[in-house]
Amino acid sequence: MKKFILMLTVLVSVALSAFANGEGEGAREYVTIGTGGVTGVYYPTGGAISKMVNKKSDEYNLKVTVESTGGSVYNVNAIMSGDLEFGIVQSDRQYQAYNGLADWDGAPQDKLRAVFAIHPESITLIASDDAGIRSLEDLKGKVVNIGNPGSGQRGNATDILTAAGFDIEKDIKAEGLKPSEAAGMLQDGRIDAYFYTVGHPNGSFKEATSGAVATRFIPLEGSAVDTVIADHPFYAKSVIPVQAHYPGAANEGDVATFGVKATFCTSSDVSDDVVYSIVKEVFDNLEEFKTLHPAYGVITAENMLEGLSAPLHPGAERYFREVGLIQ
Ligand code: GLU
Repeated sequence: MKKFILMLTVLVSVALSAFANGEGEGAREYVTIGTGGVTGVYYPTGGAISKMVNKKSDEYNLKVTVESTGGSVYNVNAIMSGDLEFGIVQSDRQYQAYNGLADWDGAPQDKLRAVFAIHPESITLIASDDAGIRSLEDLKGKVVNIGNPGSGQRGNATDILTAAGFDIEKDIKAEGLKPSEAAGMLQDGRIDAYFYTVGHPNGSFKEATSGAVATRFIPLEGSAVDTVIADHPFYAKSVIPVQAHYPGAANEGDVATFGVKATFCTSSDVSDDVVYSIVKEVFDNLEEFKTLHPAYGVITAENMLEGLSAPLHPGAERYFREVGLIQ
């Protein structure tokens, strides 16, 4: 009898300690979010999501880490190869990847899944003031950073330049710098202008507009912009709030351009529970999330379901049905 009680005590304590370690509910999962350069908005956005979920790591049995990456195209490819579980991806790249267009020409990424949309991003062109650039057409013959391979902006710069009749190989000196390097290169006079598709405000344009060299945002409007918007379902007109965010810029008012949306993406291989937990944490605490970056001002639960073209991940769908965001 004594032996039996001893054995029972051992068994019960082993079971209890396993439960306390979370083993009773399965092992803790570790996932990584691919973002962008450290002076953009994707990187702090990954930080905001991970900070919120990690506060409740024990409840969700989940730990989220963040990685700085080359941007949207890199993120899609890393999610598809299984190197990353999540990534922030421009809505246009999500559309192209799922449908096998542009960088994924003829190779649709069937496993790509949409989770939610985040902030709006503007295709932004900035130039040093004395380069004499006042419109897209003035880029002719200039040194222009169109973005690193792997970035979202590279495709947007190519679209708009092509629509404006540029031969990118011949009409400009195109550079492929990372966005975190571009502001310094503009201030150093090594480039005349750079494109960045990004939410506002961000560290890159704060840096570009607060150095010794005067810089200005260049409006993207007119027939070339009207053509790309008409030709692509994911582009829409937008405005860069220059006055509110970049007082050091040479502009006198806000600047018209066009844009896309930042979206949160994953793979159909990632579990419903993991996706559900992240979506629930962000949406249940949306007002808190919105305080984490000034680019989130316009976000609503409803518009976080707009701009998604890959199928919704079932973990996200479960949450959206529960709270009545979808029927
Ligand atoms: N839209 C950019 C890209 O896809 C990244 C912007 C950011 O990091 O905020 O490459």
